[in-house]
Amino acid sequence: MGAIRTTCAYCGVGCGISAEVRGERAVAISGDRDHPANRGSLCSKGTHLGETVGLEGRLLAPMIGQGEASWDEALDLVAGRMRDCIAEHGPDSVAFYVSGQLLTEDYYAANKLMKGFIGSGNIDTNSRLCMASAVAAHTRAFGEDVVPCSYDDLDAADLVLLVGSNTAWCHPVIWQRLEKTRERRGTRIVVIDPRRTETAEQADLHIPVAPDGDVALFNALLADMKRRGLVDEEYLATHVAVDAGFWDDLSPESGIPDAIFRKLCDLVARHPRTVTLFSQGANQSVCGTDKGNAITNFHLATGRINRIGAGPFSITGQPNAMGGREVGGLANMLACHLGFSEEERAEAAAFWNAPNICTGPGLKAVDMFRAVHAGKIRFLWVMATNPAVSLPDSTFVREALARCPTVVVSDVIADTDTGRLAHVRLPAHAWGEKDGTVTNSERRISRQRALFSPPGQTRADWQIVADVAARMGWGESFAWANAAAVFREYAHMTGLAKARDKVLDLAVLAEMDDAAYADMEPFKWGGERPFAKGYPTASGKARLVAVTAPAEVTDPAFPLRLNTVRYRDQWHTMTRTGLSPALSHHRPEPLLEVHPDDASDLGLVEGGFGRVETAHGNSVYRVSLTKGQRRGEICVPMHWSDAMAGQGRSNRLPSQAVDPVSGQPGYKNGAARVTAI
Ligand code: SF4
Repeated sequence: MGAIRTTCAYCGVGCGISAEVRGERAVAISGDRDHPANRGSLCSKGTHLGETVGLEGRLLAPMIGQGEASWDEALDLVAGRMRDCIAEHGPDSVAFYVSGQLLTEDYYAANKLMKGFIGSGNIDTNSRLCMASAVAAHTRAFGEDVVPCSYDDLDAADLVLLVGSNTAWCHPVIWQRLEKTRERRGTRIVVIDPRRTETAEQADLHIPVAPDGDVALFNALLADMKRRGLVDEEYLATHVAVDAGFWDDLSPESGIPDAIFRKLCDLVARHPRTVTLFSQGANQSVCGTDKGNAITNFHLATGRINRIGAGPFSITGQPNAMGGREVGGLANMLACHLGFSEEERAEAAAFWNAPNICTGPGLKAVDMFRAVHAGKIRFLWVMATNPAVSLPDSTFVREALARCPTVVVSDVIADTDTGRLAHVRLPAHAWGEKDGTVTNSERRISRQRALFSPPGQTRADWQIVADVAARMGWGESFAWANAAAVFREYAHMTGLAKARDKVLDLAVLAEMDDAAYADMEPFKWGGERPFAKGYPTASGKARLVAVTAPAEVTDPAFPLRLNTVRYRDQWHTMTRTGLSPALSHHRPEPLLEVHPDDASDLGLVEGGFGRVETAHGNSVYRVSLTKGQRRGEICVPMHWSDAMAGQGRSNRLPSQAVDPVSGQPGYKNGAARVTAI
C-alpha cells in the first residue's frame, strides 16, 4: 500500500502527514510535502504519532458499569435514559460536552441531535477552554467568527507579534516557518508574555507583560500610533464603525517599562506589515475577549488587516477547534454561523426537518458542569475529552460527575479520570481509524483518513450519535451511509449562512461524491481575504470595541499569580502522548517553575518539593528555579492527572472564574501560595 495522506491528531496548525502502514498496527510517519500548512515539516508530537497507535489501554467494547455489554444493550440504555430524562425533566436536563478532538462530521451529528431533535442548546465543547474568547472577539469586531489571516501572511510579514503564545513549544511548525521567514526576509519577532519562554529567548524583543496586562499594552500601543499619525483614517472612515468615546478612553499607560514600550512602538511604526498571532495566554483569561478586541482594534485602526502580511491571527490549540466552531459545537451558536433569532431557528429547523428546534443558547462549559452539580442537568454525554482533568476546579467537576444520574462517555481510552465516573462507556475510533475532516487555524479543511481497520467493536463518533438518534425515533434524519454523506449535509447547510452574507460557505464542496470526498485536497474556506467584500455586519463595517484594562487583583492569603502551561512534547491530559516513550523524555515530570529570589524567600530549592495551594485545591511539584519567571509569579503544567499516580495534578488548582462574554476560564492568572515540603 502506498502512503496515505492524513492530518496530525494534535494542534491547530493542522499539519499534513504522509503515513506508510507497515503492519497491523505499525505506521511510518513523515510530513506531507504537498500540504500547505506544513510543506513536509512536523514537530516531535506529530513525528511520534506512530508510537501511539497501539491497542494498549484502548476501550474496545461498550461497557455498562464495569461489565462489557453489547452495542444494542448500551445504546438501548443510553437512549432510554435520555428519553426518560427529557420526559421527566425537559430537554434542558440533557447536555453533551464534546471536543476539538472530534472530526467535523462527529461534531455536526452531535449538534444536530441536541439542537434540532432533543430541543436544547446544551452542547458545548472543550474548545470553550481554548479559544472561545477569540471567537467572541471576532464576532464583536467582524460580525462573524472568521480568522482574517492565513499562514502565508506569516511568510509575508515584516513584524510578528506573538501574544500569549509559546509558539516554539505549542505550535512548533508555525515557529519553524517563522524562523525560515526571519532568515529569508529579516522578519522581526516580538514575544509578549509574562514568562521568558523558549520562544521569548529566540525573539528580537521580549515584553514581560504582567498577567492580563495585554489590554493596557495594546491600548497604549494604539494611542502611540495615533500620536504618530499612523492611524489609517481612510480605512477607518470606509470600513470601521468606532464605539462612542473610543479615542478619548484610550489610555497611554502601557503597564511595562517605558524603554521597552518605546522599542515596541518604534518597531510597530516601522513595519506596517504586522501579524499579531495570539493564543491561550490571551484567551484563557477572565478578560480574554477584551484582549482579543484590543488586538483587533489595533489592526483595524492602523489598516493592518485584509492585506498581505498583516492581520490579527488567533491560533487554536486543538486539531479541530475550528471545525466545531463552524458546525455549531459551541452552546452560543445554533449551527453553521447562525444565531438563535426566530428566522434563523426556523431556517435550521426546515433544513434538518427538526421536530424540536432549541429556543436559545445552551450552557457554556463551566456553567454546564455547575448545572450538573446542582442537579439541573441529569444526563451528560461526554465525547472525546476528559473534563475531570481539563476543566478548572476539578474537585468540583468530579463531584458533579459523581452526582449526575447518567454519565455517558465516548472515548478511545478505557481508563480516564472521566471514564471512571461514567455509567456507560462507548468505544470510539481513534486517530488512524477515524475518517473525516478537520479545520485548522487558517480555515483550511483537511482530511483525516483511516490507516487501520477499526479494532474491537469501536465505531465512528458520528455513527454512535446516529445510532442513539435512531433509538430515539429520529433514524431517518440521521441515516447517513458514511462520513462523506455527513459532510455533504453540513456543506449544504452552510448555504443558510451564505444566504445571510456570512463568509462561511462550502457550497463548492456540497456536491462531492464519495470518491471526490475520499480524494479531497485541503480546502480553505473564505479564500485569502475573507473580508475583501466588506464585513458581515448590517453596515458592512467592522467595529472598534472600547475595552479597558482590568483592575489588578490581589489576595493576601494567596499572594502569588499562578499560570498553567503546556509542555512541548505532551498533549492535553496525556491519554495519547503518554503512550510514547520518546515524548516522555523531554519533561518526564511536572515542575513548579519559580524565580530564584522568590524561591529563596519561600525556602524552596532546586530539585526539592513545593506544595501549591489555591482556594480550590493543592498539589505537590518538584521545584525548578528559573529566571524566566517574573517575581511573584509561578507556573505549572496542565497535563498530569489523578489517573497517573504521583504529584503535579494542576487541574485541582484553577478557579471557575470565566470571561463574562466568552465563558472561557482564566487559567493563566490564578491566586496561589507555595510552601516548601
Ligand atoms: Fe501536529 Fe501541531 Fe506538531 Fe503540526 S505542529 S505536527 S499539527 S502537533
